[in-house]
Amino acid sequence: MHWADAFAKNLKGFQRVSTGISPSGPIHVGNMREILTGDMIYKAAVRKGLQADFIYLCDDIDPLRKVYPFLSNDYEKYVGRPLYRIPSPDGQGTYSEHFLGPFLETLDTINVKVNVIKTSEMYRTGRFADVIRTIIQNKEKAARILTEVSGRELEKDWSPYQAICSNCGSIAKTRMIGFEDPFVLYRCGSCQHEGKADIRKDDGKLPWRLEWPAKWKILNVTVEPFGKDHGAAGGSYDTGKAIASEIFSITPPAPLLYEWILLKGKGAMHSSTGNVIPAEEFVRFTPPMVLRFLIAKNNPSRHIDLDPAMGLLNLVDEFEKYLAAYFGKDTVSDPDFRDVVWFSSIGKEPSPQDVSFRHLVNLVQIYPEGSKLLNALKKSGYSADSIDSDMQHLIGVARYWLDTYAPENVKFRLLGEDEPVSLDHTGSSIIAAFLERMDSLEWNPDDIHNAVHEIIKKFNAEPSAGFSAFYRVFIGRERGPRLGYFLSNLDRSFVKRRIGFVLSTSSQAHQ
Ligand SMILES: [Zn+2]
Repeated sequence: MHWADAFAKNLKGFQRVSTGISPSGPIHVGNMREILTGDMIYKAAVRKGLQADFIYLCDDIDPLRKVYPFLSNDYEKYVGRPLYRIPSPDGQGTYSEHFLGPFLETLDTINVKVNVIKTSEMYRTGRFADVIRTIIQNKEKAARILTEVSGRELEKDWSPYQAICSNCGSIAKTRMIGFEDPFVLYRCGSCQHEGKADIRKDDGKLPWRLEWPAKWKILNVTVEPFGKDHGAAGGSYDTGKAIASEIFSITPPAPLLYEWILLKGKGAMHSSTGNVIPAEEFVRFTPPMVLRFLIAKNNPSRHIDLDPAMGLLNLVDEFEKYLAAYFGKDTVSDPDFRDVVWFSSIGKEPSPQDVSFRHLVNLVQIYPEGSKLLNALKKSGYSADSIDSDMQHLIGVARYWLDTYAPENVKFRLLGEDEPVSLDHTGSSIIAAFLERMDSLEWNPDDIHNAVHEIIKKFNAEPSAGFSAFYRVFIGRERGPRLGYFLSNLDRSFVKRRIGFVLSTSSQAHQ
């Protein structure tokens, strides 16, 4: 059984699946695991017949913790202030919007429909007022739970509420010194200002370990996926669970821990270190279903190694194998392959794919222009009369990947008809024999491949040396894409003229 179905199996009644993030930097592929894990549980619950919805909390009232490597030193003065009250690095709008915007656009691309809620809005509209009051009335109990469950002493001046200082804007260093419902009296440790914060407004927030269970209570959250750091013994899920049951008298959401996505050779992705591929960047060089596939295929308890170079091409190959298996045209060993493909789907149901991505990567290098590319696509099995928006997107993805991440050995430039190359005697003989065969040859990948093999055999050449002769002629290199496919996508008359030119110039060189 697929992991999302296995998780949903025990759920009963209405389900609200909650995910979230603090938009403190680029929202990256690592974070995508959170939202896609939530999305798949949500979809598993719905297809099981449960009423459900799916929310995404943007913790934009969290403070900026430090000047991250991607920020200028000007941000020193904003450290400790809430993200939604800090200017954006590009000078347009707020800091939190700057990082949230591209992420939301990305969600659309990968078919995630989620209700986005900004935590600052929840405070501003008074949705936190009752729980803040409850926490303050149970301050000692909350402090005891946090200490006992986490095993760590709280700071001496620990405050159950963090006011935003009305004088200096900092949220990180204010302490509650009294409560006159609905006002928290506070003192700011930064500027020593003393003021009043209204718990019915966004004048402040609960500390993270109290805010998390408070959201469960306010929003009736029943399921929440989260990273393994929150799930450690004594971590924020453990303390949240205790606060939820002992102070709010609610059942905490069913947890689903997920492992990190690691960037090949660089370790875990963290916004704070700059070691990230932003989510919007990832969908620029990955077919959208493949990002979903990456999450759907791997059990959340397994970490994922992501290699945007050759690994990406192999990942897409694997996805296409699953997709072919789904339509009965291939086999894979994964017993859950049907569900993996279903959860990877962008539309309502999976649809078959005419042209492999690997092949497309070759085609866009042969035909940079539109009309010839369409012809080549049609010859490769593409069934539409014109390039539709999905194919257009995929073409853009292939080009972007080639420009940014593709390893050198998959990149090539098709040589012009009369660009000089030199061949040895055997190489010349092989392509000359191929030229002779061409008129009686069906111009398709298999027949071309078989003909080339026979000719190489006839000349007792090493297969690799024989194939190299063709690659030298057409792309000036020793290796290249699969030859039968490659040649079949070239215009037959071009191939003839090109081989003719090379033979005429090599024979001159031999004389
Ligand atoms: Zn202050």
